[in-house]
Amino acid sequence: MILDDKPYFSLNSFLRNKFKEKIIKITLDGGFTCPNRDGKIAFGGCTFCSSMGSGEFAGNRLKSVTEQFTQQKEMMKKKWSSNKYIAYFQAYTNTYAPLDYLKKIYDEALIQEGVVGLSIGTRPDCLSQDILDLLSYYNEKTFLMIELGLQTSKDSTATLINRGHDTNCFKDAVIELRKRNINVVAHVIFGLPYESYDDMMNTVKFINSLDIQGVKYHLLYIIKNTKLAQEYMKNPSIYTLTMDSYIKIIGDAISLTNPNIVIHRITGDAKREDIIEPKWSIKKWELLNSIHHYLKENNIYQGKYFNA
Ligand code: SF4
Repeated sequence: MILDDKPYFSLNSFLRNKFKEKIIKITLDGGFTCPNRDGKIAFGGCTFCSSMGSGEFAGNRLKSVTEQFTQQKEMMKKKWSSNKYIAYFQAYTNTYAPLDYLKKIYDEALIQEGVVGLSIGTRPDCLSQDILDLLSYYNEKTFLMIELGLQTSKDSTATLINRGHDTNCFKDAVIELRKRNINVVAHVIFGLPYESYDDMMNTVKFINSLDIQGVKYHLLYIIKNTKLAQEYMKNPSIYTLTMDSYIKIIGDAISLTNPNIVIHRITGDAKREDIIEPKWSIKKWELLNSIHHYLKENNIYQGKYFNA
């Protein structure tokens, strides 16, 4: 049931429908690292990933989960009157630690007042049998979402961005999570180097082909102090998306997306002072308004061209 005025199944709509009130995501840093950075899989990480492990808006990792939660909650109170939350472990790889540590921080998040669920961002190759069992336990206990970085279904691009796993690995992880009835949210990036329009739409079709409950569509940011930034300095032609082209891509992605999949995001978030490109994305609200205007003008809605 769509509960807001967007022509797609938004996260806000999904959560309001499920919990009958506004739910706020509180973004936390559990103090993790990433096997794609520390050498277990690769060094340096995905080329687009910032030094914060793509968790720019998470809490301060030097503080406890409770302290981070309290601080973020106070900030959110200025914006929203709701007092129900999903604790979101965002920065780095949030299942990459011993089980007792994972249990400790997930439990600490769950006992915070008003928390109705957990969202955990991780890699598909960081879901061992033990971890899947642990996640299954939390899935019985609370509302759980596991957010997996796919970015693209094209393996040659995945190699280029140093993702560190192939697309089959992602697919296998989705199957394992779904065997346990765990909600899966896929992260996708549009505008990756050398990706064509068809490559991006193929990624959307790949998402449609799996039993996936949510998707986050991001646009590629070139962030200071990343490997991608170094590549961009040497060869600026790796970044070609204009604002108009991104708006068209996101419109086409929405119309192609299975209408049952919750669309959590239609653009990403980056600290404006860290963005090298695209500069047009710095005014995020202008971009969002332009996308919504474009969707309306062109009668685009989720699933318009979805073919089961
Ligand atoms: S898997 Fe995530 S945290 Fe690790 S390098 Fe890639 S984007 Fe960064």
